[in-house]
Amino acid sequence: MKLLEFEGKDVFRRYGLPVPPTGGAIEKPAQLPAALKRAGKGPWVIKAQVLAGGRGKAGGVKIAKTPKEAALIVKNMLGMKLVTPQTGEKGVKVNKVLVDKASDIAREIYLGVVLDRKLGCPLIIASAEGGVEIEVLAHTKPEAILRMPVDATAGLRPYQARQLAFQLRIPADQLGAFVKLAMGMVKIFMDLDANLVEVNPLILTPKGELLALDAKVTTDDNALFRQKELAAKPDLEATPAEKEAKKTGITFIGLDGTIGCMVNGAGLAMATMDSVHLAGGSPANFLDVGGGANAEQVTKAFQIIMKDKKVQAVLINIFGGIMRCDTIAEGVLTALKKIKLTVPLVVRLEGTNVKEGKALLQKSGLKMIVADSLWDAAQKAVAAAGAN
Ligand code: ADP
Ligand code: MG
Repeated sequence: MKLLEFEGKDVFRRYGLPVPPTGGAIEKPAQLPAALKRAGKGPWVIKAQVLAGGRGKAGGVKIAKTPKEAALIVKNMLGMKLVTPQTGEKGVKVNKVLVDKASDIAREIYLGVVLDRKLGCPLIIASAEGGVEIEVLAHTKPEAILRMPVDATAGLRPYQARQLAFQLRIPADQLGAFVKLAMGMVKIFMDLDANLVEVNPLILTPKGELLALDAKVTTDDNALFRQKELAAKPDLEATPAEKEAKKTGITFIGLDGTIGCMVNGAGLAMATMDSVHLAGGSPANFLDVGGGANAEQVTKAFQIIMKDKKVQAVLINIFGGIMRCDTIAEGVLTALKKIKLTVPLVVRLEGTNVKEGKALLQKSGLKMIVADSLWDAAQKAVAAAGAN
């Protein structure tokens, strides 16, 4: 789950880390005057609150010198479609803007904490050359990027933070502030079950003050069960279909292809999508009905898949492990009686009681193509989608 910049900065503030004075995030132009007052004396910076970086260059970050300028910027920015290198061509709609006090910038630094899967611990990534995209810097000047693994239990130790500060040429009078910031970011990373806590740019003002101008926090969805506050937030990236699926315990991600896939288990779902590609087709979605794959879930999955008008064929690929194939077949048949399927259906079952399951499907009299192997199913689905 990704936090918006203002949410990330709220977390930073709670941990006592230096962020600019703010008027908060607003959704309506009428809320601007109060926000400007809260932020203090201008100039101010108005920032589009979307879950994508690269806003600066795309027109999603603007400086306002007067309240009048701020009003014009807010009016134009709210409701606009922001297209950045991270949003795709379609862009994302701006529903909220953040009003912060603008800062003078003397130097820009990059400071991030990521999860290093190879080392199995948090890793601090830092560079004295902030402001530019870190991915770009990694290509053009990899030697300018510092890496420091952090012990997950002990957190970042003060001596490590000081070592980083020296390498980043942080002025001596800001050493304490930097140590607190770096240690605080690692603490946030651990406390929130994050996989990214990033500040780009971290700045030094001409007066030598250290400030986090941007904040990016991404947390691990698998830890949402113990992150009650995060779990209560609306998922801004999910489509209506994805949200509906989640309620039934189905994992669904919409894609651009024509073959609707209904699979149990994430690994099998991935393998099914790969096979569809290999057979010359393209999946309309990733869909994992979960271990249970009961009639209710299968029905729901059909309904979600069929809402996508691009779907030309449905491929069911279910492995009967804990759940037996005949039970799954019954579930599929119950679902098929409830919904009107208007495209060809290919079913492949494998596992416990597969014979009984297939027999049930075959003698049901309902129209469907029964497949044997994964490869057979993928080819049949691609052929059926093409013929439809
Ligand atoms: P993004 O990473 O999405 O481009 P940032 O928050 O990093 O958005 O803002 C882009 C640029 O805008 C920053 O690199 C900085 O130069 C400028 N900026 C952002 N916030 C402020 C601020 N409070 N005061 C002055 N300049 C700012
Ligand atoms: Mg940034």
